[in-house]
Amino acid sequence: MARAVDVPSLVAQARDGQVRALARLLSLVEDASPELRAVMAALAPHTGSALIVGLTGAPGVGKSTTTSAIVTALRARGERVAVLAVDPSSPFSGGALLGDRIRMQEHATDPGVYIRSMATRGHLGGLSWATPQALRVLDAAGFDVVLVETVGVGQSEVEVASLADTTIVLLAPGMGDGIQAAKAGILEIGDIFVVNKADRDGADATVRDLRHMTTLGERQEPGDWRPPVIKTVASTGTGIGEVLEAIDAHHLWASGNGHLQVRRRKRAAEEIEAIAVTALRDRLGSLREGRRLEDLAADVVDGTVDPYAAADRLLAEIGA
Ligand code: GDP
Repeated sequence: MARAVDVPSLVAQARDGQVRALARLLSLVEDASPELRAVMAALAPHTGSALIVGLTGAPGVGKSTTTSAIVTALRARGERVAVLAVDPSSPFSGGALLGDRIRMQEHATDPGVYIRSMATRGHLGGLSWATPQALRVLDAAGFDVVLVETVGVGQSEVEVASLADTTIVLLAPGMGDGIQAAKAGILEIGDIFVVNKADRDGADATVRDLRHMTTLGERQEPGDWRPPVIKTVASTGTGIGEVLEAIDAHHLWASGNGHLQVRRRKRAAEEIEAIAVTALRDRLGSLREGRRLEDLAADVVDGTVDPYAAADRLLAEIGA
């Protein structure tokens, strides 16, 4: 049986830095709990101050290592940091799924750091729905920076970019990464490009390729953001300072000219849409159970009603 949820005290405790309450709220998100409506209402006035930084790249490029190094650097500045590791391909949750979480263990005893893995595959609307709500929870809990690490290539990376205030795209030398990046639409979403494993052969060539590719396409206007390409060796921390400077610079640029606000509104619009579509689907589902859809389908087959008119009736009946 589900435990009763005392939403106001749970939210108060999470905002007070209590890890158990925070974990519970994130589980409510992950489980798509009916309590979420109350949770989000309670959180709303406390959101908007965290900087959301997305970090994405193919498996093995060094996302975990880089995330950990960025966390170390942010902690050195005294900032509270949350890491949300999202795996859109995994149906599992809460555990140590995203590769080897051991690298993050150096932060395990630091009360200024919170790390959580989240699976979104089971969700209708997936990333577009669960991840923004988890970000809301972490934002309201008072973290200065939330790092969202996403695994996978392709659509999931593009989705995470629409979630973040600043998106870091991580690549590693070799394997025709540049070309893969172009294919996956990665060039458009990166605010900062990081070529990790710069201790390996081919890093300079990858940097060159990226610089070349990021200057192609649309003509740059004065005042546009020019995504920097930074070389790092995440395992030793080399270059991480530069990554932090680039995050700061992008944040300053985006908050100064309204881009940040535009991006956040776009993110909220997608979230609203995802919630609305889910609600619509649920209501349609209940009509299906009530056999109303079947009745209409029979009318369509008989030719007494056309499918558009039938759909209109269905929508009218659920008040859409
Ligand atoms: P992820 O799958 O993208 O999260 O990548 P990981 O952070 O798990 O790193 C994959 C492997 O690359 C691990 O064995 C890391 O120790 C190693 N690694 C990470 N950064 C570097 C680097 O800058 N140089 C080298 N040589 N290895 C690295």
